Amino acid sequence: MIRFEDLLEKVRAYSPDADVELLRRAYVFSALEHRGQLRHSGEPYLIHPLAVADFLADMKLDVVAIAAGLLHDVVEDTLTTIERIQELFGPEVAHVVEGVTKISAIPFSSSEERQAENFRKMLLAMVDDIRVILVKLADRLHNMRTLSHLPEERRITIAQETRDIYAPIANRLGMSKVKNELEELSFRYLEPQTYEALRAAVDAKRRATEGLIEELKTTITVKLREAHVPVLEIDGRIKRLYSISQKLKRQKIELEQVYDFVALRIVTEGVKDCYGALGIIHQTWSPVPGRIKDFIAMSRPNGYQSLHTSVISEHGMPFEVQIRTIEMHRMAEEGIAAHWKYKEGRVGDHRDDRYFQWMRQLLEYQQEVRDPEEFIQHLKVELYPEEVYTFTPKGLVKALPRDATPIDFAYSIHTDVGHQCVGARVNGKMVPLRTRLKNGDIVEIVTAAGHKPSRDWLNFVATSRARNKIKHVIHSEEKDRAIELGRKVFEKDARRYDLNPKTILEGDAFAKVLADFNVQKADEVFALIGYGKVSTKQLLVKLVPPEGLREKAPEGPVTAAVKRVLGAGEEKIKVRGGFDDLMVFRARCCNPIRGEKIVGYITRGKGVSVHSVTCPNVVNLLYDPERRIEVEWDKGDAVARYTVKLTMEVEDRQGVLAAVSAKIAGINTNIKNMEAHTASGQHARIDMAVEISDLKHLEKVIKSLRGVDGVLDVERAAR
Ligand code: MN
Repeated sequence: MIRFEDLLEKVRAYSPDADVELLRRAYVFSALEHRGQLRHSGEPYLIHPLAVADFLADMKLDVVAIAAGLLHDVVEDTLTTIERIQELFGPEVAHVVEGVTKISAIPFSSSEERQAENFRKMLLAMVDDIRVILVKLADRLHNMRTLSHLPEERRITIAQETRDIYAPIANRLGMSKVKNELEELSFRYLEPQTYEALRAAVDAKRRATEGLIEELKTTITVKLREAHVPVLEIDGRIKRLYSISQKLKRQKIELEQVYDFVALRIVTEGVKDCYGALGIIHQTWSPVPGRIKDFIAMSRPNGYQSLHTSVISEHGMPFEVQIRTIEMHRMAEEGIAAHWKYKEGRVGDHRDDRYFQWMRQLLEYQQEVRDPEEFIQHLKVELYPEEVYTFTPKGLVKALPRDATPIDFAYSIHTDVGHQCVGARVNGKMVPLRTRLKNGDIVEIVTAAGHKPSRDWLNFVATSRARNKIKHVIHSEEKDRAIELGRKVFEKDARRYDLNPKTILEGDAFAKVLADFNVQKADEVFALIGYGKVSTKQLLVKLVPPEGLREKAPEGPVTAAVKRVLGAGEEKIKVRGGFDDLMVFRARCCNPIRGEKIVGYITRGKGVSVHSVTCPNVVNLLYDPERRIEVEWDKGDAVARYTVKLTMEVEDRQGVLAAVSAKIAGINTNIKNMEAHTASGQHARIDMAVEISDLKHLEKVIKSLRGVDGVLDVERAAR
């Protein structure tokens, strides 16, 4: 068991000015909080935080990291809050402890490769201080070393998570020593039989080759000395069991066929010494073709640098040789953790340029780093700034582009989930659908069967998948409307030529003429008419001989025309200048009613459309002034009824709908249609169509509705 005083000694040795009082307080606090708790091994719990802190001291990390190591489990496993940690140990220690607690709480649920990759990225994206990851890795390493005390099921879960998540993260950060140990331990617990069999076989080989390895080391040392290449360290070993097992699997071979399970590592001084050593190795033994790798000129993505080659000894035994400088060696073993040594001792000053280049590459740091010192101090890890990682309630990770919303999330699950999305809970709270998701958000989509996507969503979705799916639905709905409109226009126009639309549609000629419009079904022709791409006349000339295409005589004076368009009981509109033969109709966009100021507009071929002067179509569209015409309401005594649509925002509670109906009935107004919608927030919407006689009547209705308890707003709907 590690003694706290030994830990302090270790820290003082590499950092004489370290704040040991902070460490002492952290130790005492941790001991107090974990008092009485036991590990599965039966030992006091405290040995775990001590071991984690000791490991961090081996990495020569600063006191903040080590204090956080001592305290890393108190928030998770005791009643202590993060605020208390902050009070006692300051914001930096609290921040690291909080980060470790947060990432430990995330459930990892699938070892499917894509999921694991997303999960790793998300973990790294959530971490804004690299020490969080280092403490977590130290924690995991100690837990893996003591895994045998846990029940089998837990062993498997933890070992799987280690193999899928933490070993690759250590690798990503260049910490090969940690990665190797995590991999070996996971292998042992996940595939115990394979592991044991391989260990027995490799042990036998080891005994047989130990003498040879010593011999090779001596030969190399002598040869390099003769050539004046400095040898700082030379190390010969059998490769790790996990990497051998991977090789057997990958290449589908037996252990006997693994030709380079012995590896020698030479640590020398400068880069030129590396190449010098490589030349001497190749002069001494025959290199295996195609096995020379120059990771000095082309470093690995995690910053690893080394020369690799495979040669065959005079006894016919192949082996691998790795050659690197002392800094490359340190980076290869400790990766990102190695940098603290440079920071503390300032020895790395002259190497800063290359070092920071490596750091930047390692972190894929996107923004420009002007001041390397500042960069080191903050150590913000912004590894994947363009993505955001979120969860389903079942713990599956969804990687989405930054700025993604719950709608994007919904479509990433399934098209129908997207279409039917009516609300979203993020971390248990209802949020607006346009909310931008953050790393680690747990997102639950609320759906309603039959719900359709809204055009408004296009204004805020971030993924092209969601965008395309939404557009698809909107277009097909528009098409449905175009078909309906086209059919009506066709029927009306056919009657205008005194033709029977039914007879035409059922005739052989109609079926034949479809091809002329490049379509196969009648609906598609109607869609073309509805979209205004084809006129009814263009269709009819192909179906009816010219003599059959005679328009009926225009119908009587304007009043008759109005009646025909508007239907019985509707208001007459007088057109200035007495163009009695003009068709006059109320524009559907603004649906003007008696009492409103109106303006007429001569359309091409359809008559005069009458708009409210405030209608955006009149105000905004640059209407041709020559086609404007003055119109006014006829002062007739006919009592007209207009259907006006109202939309209301109301509180979502019982009784509001009933109160609204009662109010309308109370002022002698007919309701033609009424529909309530529950929106995603706390408010609901009521849409209704009422019969209105004129503007005054309308104003009265709106005013009364606004007075109903629970009604928040009332507006006249455009259509
Ligand atoms: Mn722990």
